[in-house]
Amino acid sequence: MREIVHVQGGQCGNQIGAKFWEVISDEHGVDPTGTYHGDSDLQLERINVYYNEAAGGRYVPRAVLMDLEPGTMDSVRAGPFGQLFRPDNFVFGQTGAGNNWAKGHYTEGAELIDSVLDVIRKEAEECDSLQGFQIAHSLGGGTGSGMGTLLISKIREEYPDKIINAFSVFPSPKVSDTVVEPYNATLSAHQLVEHCDGVMVLDNEALFDICTRTLKLTNSTYGDLNHLVSACLSGVTCCLRFPGRLNSDMRKLAVNLAPFPRLHFFMIGFAPLTSKRSQQYRALTIPEVTNQMFDAKNMMCASDPRHGRYLAASALFRGRVTNNYERDEEMLNIQNKYSSYFVEWIPNNMKTSHCDIPPRGLKFASTLIANSTAIQEMFKRIDGQFTAMVRRRAFWHQFTGEGMDEMEFFDADSNMKDLIDEYQQYQDITDDDEEFEDYYDEEDY
Ligand code: GDP
Repeated sequence: MREIVHVQGGQCGNQIGAKFWEVISDEHGVDPTGTYHGDSDLQLERINVYYNEAAGGRYVPRAVLMDLEPGTMDSVRAGPFGQLFRPDNFVFGQTGAGNNWAKGHYTEGAELIDSVLDVIRKEAEECDSLQGFQIAHSLGGGTGSGMGTLLISKIREEYPDKIINAFSVFPSPKVSDTVVEPYNATLSAHQLVEHCDGVMVLDNEALFDICTRTLKLTNSTYGDLNHLVSACLSGVTCCLRFPGRLNSDMRKLAVNLAPFPRLHFFMIGFAPLTSKRSQQYRALTIPEVTNQMFDAKNMMCASDPRHGRYLAASALFRGRVTNNYERDEEMLNIQNKYSSYFVEWIPNNMKTSHCDIPPRGLKFASTLIANSTAIQEMFKRIDGQFTAMVRRRAFWHQFTGEGMDEMEFFDADSNMKDLIDEYQQYQDITDDDEEFEDYYDEEDY
């Protein structure tokens, strides 16, 4: 068995994490008491990837919950699947992080981190063959971002050969009015570039736009945003949880999607989009679903893929199809239609896979995980907000007051600017670039 240890941190991380477990427990036939009530062997075949089997055949999430204040975790515990989690795996403090990355990373969070690592170690030791870790958090606050990235760096140190994926919620002023969020996000991104293998980008700006423009919701709540998030988290982990060959473990996924180690921030496209308030009124056809998942309006990241190029992408269809041929044909159509958006110097950079079990409430759905150079648009948005404040050193005292060195602002900023440049550089390369001809000459090919 190739187990994964899941960690969720901070308010947002615990919220989306709890939704993730609700959704996947339902898909695997696990009820809120951990008892299996499913109807298909497929549900159990790889259940050990995410669940431990406890005495009496109960399934317990291999999940660790952390926070610097007890509130959100109390509500997770009181929520629909709250009793599913192992009580020892709730680790929390009382102080809060006050939306301050430095509190999460250097002071309050640093104090609590060893207790979290103890629980993680215990889970890891019980695994037969651990494949890696995934962490759910936001980047805009203090705990998920500061302490979350501290945890990632500690895990990297202790388990250097394991894969680490992050489900990271990027901040948007459309959703939150905390002004220091661009600082927290940039300081976090600096860490995620170095210590993660894959980051599934969940951009609140895009989630909000989808809720208002596509789903026509007024006054979108976090519940509405998280409905989209949970559909994506279920979609992107589907290959890991159900039998299949493509991207069946975290390493294969990382290898296929990240041709360059630093460029591992993935856009997620999902179709069909539904809201938790209103159900889908009709089932979509395969061509409709395929087209929609590539549509900029269906991306969980406020970047338009038509402004960049795909380095690699992976599409996962879910639901029974009577006609595989139609799906494959449609994928070929899409690739032909969008061929100029795929870099030609990585042949076959689009993979397709299939899982028979659809998400609840839908007959057919698909998820796209894409490494697109267009993601630089989102980084530029955050960097623009960051740079405006850095010039005036606004709010710096809050961070330096926690012992953070001023240099870290500049380092994080230049790392993000470098990242943006790297995406641009690969976006611009074409096969007949002279630079590359020189390379071939030099290397005597
Ligand atoms: P922490 O508890 O210190 O980690 O702080 P938060 O998780 O509250 O971080 C604040 C950021 O997360 C802001 O950008 C919020 O908009 C965002 N956020 C908080 N809760 C949620 C949530 O449930 N869903 C989503 N999508 N974003 C959230």
